[in-house]
Parts: sequence; C-alpha cells; structure tokens
Amino acid sequence: MTGTRAGAGARAGAGAAHPAAAGDWAAVAAEIARSVGVRPRRDEPLSRHTTMRVGGPADLLAVAHDAAQLAALVRFARAAGLPYVVIGRGSNLVVGDAGIRGLAIVSRAESCRVEGNRVIAEAGVPLARTAMLAQRAGLSGLEFGLAIPGTVGGAVWANAGAHGSDIAAVLESVRILRVDGTVADEPAGAIGLTYRDSRLKHAAEHGSGDSAAGEIVLEATFGLMPADPAAIETRLDEIRRWRREHQPLNLPSAGSIFRNPAADSAGRLIDAAGLKGARVGGAAISERHANFIVNDGGATAADVRRLAEIARAEVARRFGVELVYEVQFIGDWSDWGQEER
Ligand SMILES: Cc1cc2nc3c(=O)[nH]c(=O)nc-3n(C[C@H](O)[C@H](O)[C@H](O)COP(=O)(O)OP(=O)(O)OC[C@H]3O[C@@H](n4cnc5c(N)ncnc54)[C@H](O)[C@@H]3O)c2cc1C
Repeated sequence: MTGTRAGAGARAGAGAAHPAAAGDWAAVAAEIARSVGVRPRRDEPLSRHTTMRVGGPADLLAVAHDAAQLAALVRFARAAGLPYVVIGRGSNLVVGDAGIRGLAIVSRAESCRVEGNRVIAEAGVPLARTAMLAQRAGLSGLEFGLAIPGTVGGAVWANAGAHGSDIAAVLESVRILRVDGTVADEPAGAIGLTYRDSRLKHAAEHGSGDSAAGEIVLEATFGLMPADPAAIETRLDEIRRWRREHQPLNLPSAGSIFRNPAADSAGRLIDAAGLKGARVGGAAISERHANFIVNDGGATAADVRRLAEIARAEVARRFGVELVYEVQFIGDWSDWGQEER
C-alpha cells in the first residue's frame, strides 16, 4: 500500500493529509471527477442500490461504467486511504441504516460478448443477461444464473449457485485487480471456489467491514457447451416457473439469509421453528420461503437484522443448529445493538 498512498500525498503536497482523511467529501468528489472522470454523488441512500431496499447514505457513491473505471476508482480509494466498498446489484447485502463511510463503488461495467464456446463478461453484467446471451448463442451452462439477480462480479465473489449448478462449474478464468494494484488473469481453479465461498471473500484489506474490498473482479470468462437453443430456453422457462412458485419475487429481499447447513435446509429449519410470517417492523419472514426475509413496507436494516437474529437464535435453541449468514451486513452498524443494552 505504501507506494500508492505516497502518490496521493504527493498530489496533496508532501505530508498534507488527503482530504478524505478530513472527511472533506466535496474535495474528494472533485478529485475523483478530475482524476477518474466519474462524478460521485454525496449522501446517496444505499436503499436505492440494494434489492432489500434498505440502507442509509454513502458519504460518496460513484458508478463505474466499465472495468477501467472500476479499477481506477478502487486504485484512487486505496491511494487516498479512503474506505471503500464495491457493490454489484446489492442483492446479497443489507447495508446499515447509518449508511457507508467513505466511497461506495457501484459496478456497472457491462460489456459482454461471445467468443466460440465462451461468454466473456465484465464484472457489472447482470448474471441473468449472461444466461440469456448464452441461450441465444446456443451455449449451455449458465442457465442457473437466470434467476440470481446479481452481477458477474458478485456471483464470482460468492460462487453463487442454484438449480444444481454454480459459478465454479462454468468459470474458466477471471481478471482480478489485486491488492497490490496489479491486474492478473487467474484460472478459476486458483480462486478457491467452494459452497458460497471464494478466496476473494477473505482478501479483506480495509474499508467499511466488507471482505470483498481486497481483490476486485474486473471480468470473467465462462466456458460453456454447445446445445440446442430451444432446449436451453425450455430449461430457462422451468427455472422462471420454479422461482415464481417458490420465492417471494414480488417483494424486496436479499435472497437466502442463511447458508444451508450440511444435509439440511435453513428454510426448513426456520419453518419448523414456526417462524413463517414472523416480523420486526417492516421486515417479515416470507410465508413462501422461510429463508427469505422480505421488506413489505418501510423496513429498516435494523429490522431485517433483528429478525434474522431471532430466527438464528430460535433454530439454535430448538434444533441445536448454528445457522451461518449467506447475506452480508455491511456499512456502518456502529449503533447496532445499542437499543438492546
Ligand atoms: C430474489 C433473490 C434470489 C437469489 N437467489 C440466489 C441463488 O439462487 N443463489 C445464490 O447464490 N444467490 C442468490 N441470491 C443472492 C445474490 O443474488 C447473489 O449472492 C449474487 O451473486 C450477488 O451479486 P451482486 O452483484 O448483487 O453482489 P452484491 O450484493 O452487490 O455484493 C455481494 C458481495 O460481492 C462483492 N462484490 C460485488 N462486485 C464485486 C467485484 N466486481 N469484485 C469483487 N467483489 C465484488 C461485494 O463487495 C459484496 O461483498 C439471490 C438474491 C435475491 C434478491
């Protein structure tokens, strides 16, 4: 980190603290606009950038429209010693009501192409779009991604999966911005993809408590199988139907709150604990799928987290099973738990 931080010092005059250190967000925003060409927004509510529709304001929020801007924004933050977090579609996140300190970088790098049996997609491409592009090209393997409402970057980070498959099954290589600022193409086998996990989750550097602030996905290459486009479309229709029948897609949520314990399902356990329909404020445990918490009107992030904690405690009490979070609570939770004390 020394190299890069010194660079920023030079720009602000040797020894002078970077405006970020002083929380001078107007000055930081101006510097980002000048050096990266992206105009950050101040105090932008994260409820607009997450599928659970909760989350307070980010000191600064910048949207990256291609992989180069994504890398430049991350490099800028690192050089300035500015806490940052990269967000895809916010479909696996619950951002605290106090928001995000520092810079939220929203990844909208969306170039995507087919080359032979490969789909090559920048980190901000919605995973569903890669599934549909592959179908049109007569390539099979990404169908499972149709109903995962996140981006390629978020999916690689979490090894997202569904319907019997996951990212690990189709990922060939990934272009990564490393902690040291270099960019490298890594074979899929090198990033430790396991059940809802990857090396990227553990390369925490700094930022607002979000582990993905370490290594950043810029682009991914998926290796797929030629197949009949009509047969792929039939599979996509099955997935659409299954999702409509089994998940509360009509209400804001962040997908599965907990990972499935070995040889069991978190949804079955929460349901067996009699918690379907349980609520805290505007947050409720879905009647359709007990491992989903929905925001059915004016929920706060604290409501969601409190309800999740109730479910976790009740399942532990009744069945002795410790549920592990799949969703991430990020941002400023400094006031979390105060009211309980
Ligand atoms: C209705 C619904 C259904 C869902 N169904 C499924 C399912 O079937 N299977 C499943 O696995 N998940 C599911 N999810 C959860 C979620 O969609 C996935 O985890 C998805 O991969 C998250 O992608 P995202 O872009 O929204 O990431 P975000 O939620 O924005 O971020 C998640 C994490 O990824 C990191 N990240 C994002 N982009 C990058 C990048 N470019 N480089 C490095 N790190 C990055 C973030 O910093 C954060 O730590 C569902 C969610 C919803 C709302």
